[in-house]
Amino acid sequence: MTQNSIKSQSPPDEREGKPSASGAERLVACLASWPNEQAHGFEGDVMAATAQGTEIAAMMEAEEIDEDAEADSQVIAEKLGELEQKALAEWTTHYSVDQSTIVGPIREARLWLKDGGEKHSSAKLDVFFFGLAAGSRKVGLFLDHKTGFKDVTASPKNWQLRVQAIALAQTYGLEEIWGGIAHVRFGAKLDYSLYSLETILQLRELWIRAVARTENAERFYAPGKWCGYCSFAHKCPAMHGYMSILKENAETGWKLDDRSMIRGIYNSKSGIEKSLALMLQWLKKLPKEEMNALGFDLEENAPNKPFKSALAPWAMIEPTGLMTEGEYWDLAKMSKGALIKELAARYAKQYNTTKKAGVAYFESLLEPVCLSFPKAPSLKDIEGK
Ligand code: SF4
Repeated sequence: MTQNSIKSQSPPDEREGKPSASGAERLVACLASWPNEQAHGFEGDVMAATAQGTEIAAMMEAEEIDEDAEADSQVIAEKLGELEQKALAEWTTHYSVDQSTIVGPIREARLWLKDGGEKHSSAKLDVFFFGLAAGSRKVGLFLDHKTGFKDVTASPKNWQLRVQAIALAQTYGLEEIWGGIAHVRFGAKLDYSLYSLETILQLRELWIRAVARTENAERFYAPGKWCGYCSFAHKCPAMHGYMSILKENAETGWKLDDRSMIRGIYNSKSGIEKSLALMLQWLKKLPKEEMNALGFDLEENAPNKPFKSALAPWAMIEPTGLMTEGEYWDLAKMSKGALIKELAARYAKQYNTTKKAGVAYFESLLEPVCLSFPKAPSLKDIEGK
């Protein structure tokens, strides 16, 4: 796939307590977020890598699909690989980049933005390349992988990409960069922006000023859609204020002239949801007696049973004659649940039985090609039992 591939290595304490690209949008939008996250720690940090993210990153690094990875991860890694190849081809053609000079892909590398020779902030890039364009200009390309379902700010206004572009340009002395998002949900697509050297220098100035403005700004709360990523959300007075307004209005009802409050709460809902999620985490960790005294208990859940590989189930399903291979791949790409639901419906029709019986039949048939991961218990309300 590539030329001069470099395997990146990052130190364990990657951010070294300094601002980073992943929190840049929040830092710029809400001056209070950065000083409070620093002062109160990152215990609620939602930016931690998920098991699926790690699995996908491993496949991207190896540049091959791991048949033992979860089917969803395999599909995502495949789509990311295709988008990466598309971006690389477009970038190479656009700049007439000399193939022999291309360095990359460099993956999962943390780059430092320096100010006055000191480390100021950092950016971790999912993947990047650079090389010599016509006229010996040094140009770069980077992509940020978006594999989740949450809304992402479009590339022209995306501060995470801006800080990534600044750090990449500064580290490798690049004169122009294409940077963008590789979206794999809701239709795989690329969303690029072009960063000229002039733009990068202006953005660098703005970013350094934004970080400086956060000093002594602990109380300058500006809630918004970024709150769901803020590790201070569960302690934030702005979130607490919104929650008490929600409680009051649940009792008295909303009015049309509450417009700005309604919009403010709606736009910060991810921060409120995060506060609730952290309360649930806290409840689940209580000793049993204390949990019971509050009227809750833990309830065991059935294990997660993903397919061992995307290919293995087809060997079991094909002999049933209930589905073509094309239909199987379309459904398997969606989810195991969607596949079993459709198979169960066809089974019920064919054998004049219930869909429930169909689900039981296929769960048992496919058991040998499934893994089994224990699932954390749920919190159960036992009050009034
Ligand atoms: S929760 Fe929202 S308003 Fe509060 S500090 Fe964090 S980003 Fe700012």
